[in-house]
Amino acid sequence: DSRIVSPAATREEDAIEASIRPKRLDEYLGQAPVREQMQIYIEAAKQRGEALDHVLIFGPPGLGKTTLSHVIANELGVNLRQTSGPVIEKAGDLAALLTNLQPHDVLFIDEIHRLSPVVEEVLYPAMEDYQIDIMIGEGPAARSIKLDLPPFTLIGATTRAGLLTAPLRDRFGIVQRLEFYSAEELTRIVRRSAQILGINCDAEGAAEIAKRSRGTPRIANRLLRRVRDYAQVKASGAITREVADAAMKMLKVDPEGFDDLDRRMLNTIIQSFDGGPVGVESLAAALSEERGTLEDVIEPYLIQQGYLVRTARGRMATSKAYRHMGFKPKAGASD
Ligand code: ADP
Repeated sequence: DSRIVSPAATREEDAIEASIRPKRLDEYLGQAPVREQMQIYIEAAKQRGEALDHVLIFGPPGLGKTTLSHVIANELGVNLRQTSGPVIEKAGDLAALLTNLQPHDVLFIDEIHRLSPVVEEVLYPAMEDYQIDIMIGEGPAARSIKLDLPPFTLIGATTRAGLLTAPLRDRFGIVQRLEFYSAEELTRIVRRSAQILGINCDAEGAAEIAKRSRGTPRIANRLLRRVRDYAQVKASGAITREVADAAMKMLKVDPEGFDDLDRRMLNTIIQSFDGGPVGVESLAAALSEERGTLEDVIEPYLIQQGYLVRTARGRMATSKAYRHMGFKPKAGASD
């Protein structure tokens, strides 16, 4: 995925991200309600000497689900084992992970909605009673044995809570929803990253980057690095508002942080579908994009910012979208 504003991580980014990723709760900026609640739950579990209750974290990509999981494990003073839904193919894979945990460890499962039904079945008694049933042998000689697990904390991450089956969702004692970050919060994140990476970036430069980051820390950190390159080659090396603005023009990130795909989506709804309503399947076909990309990556921010509304009959462009794309709002378009 080559979009500059893609919230998905690239491999070269992983190393840099390791240095700027917050490790403690007080470095985890924004998301105040989540932070306040988690601080209490963590403190209480530590005082009682128990494993923290299982935590489900949901929210669009790049908002800090993985980061929060690591922060939780750090604050608890335990190890974190990381895996993801599609990687756990067989019940035995999950059993191996679970039986290797130390008491109170965190098992982090990213994209937990993509676990297969058989694997999910193993998870239920593990979460509820710290026990698993595993089958030994095959055919008539097969029998199941119960294994006790150490008390542990499962942290599951997913983009939308609605993707989870009800029985799985019900087994999480703590459910946290991450919200898009405000421009002020992202400005603080950009300034913190700039400081760690030794980038000279003034307050206005940071604010300009923040404003165009689609409410997403991962995008803010990526734009910061690209603007730094531009500042180094085309300016004195320092990131000011003017430098940030010029760099964004080159990157084709507009003042709202929208890139070509966002603009194509709005344009298509307005021009090809007369403003909507249009179903997500038709839209995906018209844009030659995957439905999941539109639903998980593009839409949430456009909806949160009031450019798009989702109705029972499909997506509709708002007057704000018409104006942003340089059209006269359609009569009857919602604001
Ligand atoms: P997700 O798992 O939701 O896709 P990540 O946890 O990988 O997102 O976050 C992406 C990057 O954004 C992290 O590497 C981190 O540097 C930064 N980040 C995320 N949340 C925060 C936060 N609350 N404060 C500061 N930086 C953050």
